[in-house]
Amino acid sequence: MLESPLLPQTRSLIAGEWTDGGEGTLLRVKNPATGELLAEIPEAGARDARRAIESARASMALVPDPGRRALYLNRIHELLLENREDLARIITLEQGKPLRESHIEVEYTAAFFRFFAGRTDLLDPHPFAVPNSPLRWVVHHRPVGVVAMITPWNLPLAMLGKKFAAALLAGCGVVSKPAPETPLSAIALFALAERAGIPSGLVNLVVGPAEPIGVELCSHPAVRVISFTGSTEVGKLLIRRSADSVKRVSLELGGNAPFIVFEDADLELAVESLMVNKFRCAGQTCICANRVFVHETLASELLMRLRDKLPKLVVGNGMDPATDIGPLIDPSAWEKVDSLVKDALSKGAKLAHGGNPDRPRGSDWGAFYPPTLIVGANEGMRLFHEEIFGPVIAVTTFREEEEVLARANSSQHGLAGYVFTKDAARGTRMVTKLQCGHVGLNSSSGPTPSAPFGGMKASGIGREGGAEGLMEYLETQTVVEGI
Ligand code: ADP
Repeated sequence: MLESPLLPQTRSLIAGEWTDGGEGTLLRVKNPATGELLAEIPEAGARDARRAIESARASMALVPDPGRRALYLNRIHELLLENREDLARIITLEQGKPLRESHIEVEYTAAFFRFFAGRTDLLDPHPFAVPNSPLRWVVHHRPVGVVAMITPWNLPLAMLGKKFAAALLAGCGVVSKPAPETPLSAIALFALAERAGIPSGLVNLVVGPAEPIGVELCSHPAVRVISFTGSTEVGKLLIRRSADSVKRVSLELGGNAPFIVFEDADLELAVESLMVNKFRCAGQTCICANRVFVHETLASELLMRLRDKLPKLVVGNGMDPATDIGPLIDPSAWEKVDSLVKDALSKGAKLAHGGNPDRPRGSDWGAFYPPTLIVGANEGMRLFHEEIFGPVIAVTTFREEEEVLARANSSQHGLAGYVFTKDAARGTRMVTKLQCGHVGLNSSSGPTPSAPFGGMKASGIGREGGAEGLMEYLETQTVVEGI
């Protein structure tokens, strides 16, 4: 079992009390690298979720002013950094990623708290004049109401933290449902929020099965925003379920990122960027390159460089400092990646490195997948349409700018996209036309707290981070006053 000062309780936090959920079942949290049992959490259900929502709603009446809320955010920022060793260990043990990546996740999460703590100005009312009107007009931003946060297992601290920080600055109550694979990072964050002195009952954590809790969150009228990060399929379900109570939805959904390398690219930069972007979190992020398009004149050189680098990556337990790639989250994730690779090979793609892993055995195994390089991929293969979510690079070639742009945009998804070229005019043309909410030009950098991040098309609705990320949790109210 996982012992940590940040986990004195492995339970739900409802109405200011750490409490056993009333579902009567236990959620068993396992280390994906070893199968070791980390925690058993008594699961919460719909009734617990309702109590949490009602507590969050009632507590909103006691929300302090924005200046004080910023102090809470700053305090959580400090606490996250002070406890980074413990938090990183918790993330790696329940999620599997290498410990150094978990450290980066803690720092990234903390940065959202610091950013929003510094932006109380975004809540200021805006008076404005209307020509020839004797009236006084003022635009206010009000907290939208209770925010339900449903978060995934790939970045269990950061995906929750970025929502939490923005909603708290907005003055909203919170009900969070973490992924069943990784509830411990969420519990640790709520333990720190409690330590920071956030009013009791304002922020609630409900650990339990998705269905009964999700239905309650989508149907309860006090919940005004469903803030979700996860699959497009579940995102669509949440939109449908939220329709009757006309909730706002803020959705970070799947991606199918194109990574485009033109003939005039700095190839070393492109390859380095691809390596970092692709293998972070064992390829289980929604912004990692899913389709690599390389100009046909550069293809053999790019493959040679990748073939040189891939064998050096160490696959193993994330707690081992030598590890570059941890296990996939579970056996079904492994099966999915394997089936995508087999589908591509059966349709004519070739393995340039990796592939053919031994199927893990037994119930207590780590679902390790080797770094894999596939060449000759194309749109007839599943991995060009579905998120690979594994350490697999799939490469295709192209000839013309127009051609690669059309192919990149042919996906229903539009989250991240990357373009490598030294031609500034071409870079501008590509960036302008690429249907992605996050575009890297000669960079594969991910999001940062001060910039809005989110998807176009089936990759989502709304943005996280930046002023736009705060607006997700605010209602705009115009007051017109006779004078
Ligand atoms: P993944 O396939 O990566 O696990 P999901 O979209 O299934 O992505 O999960 C993301 C989050 O959504 C998790 O917290 C999960 O428990 C939750 N979830 C899954 N199905 C539902 C549902 N029907 N209602 C509400 N939440 C759900």
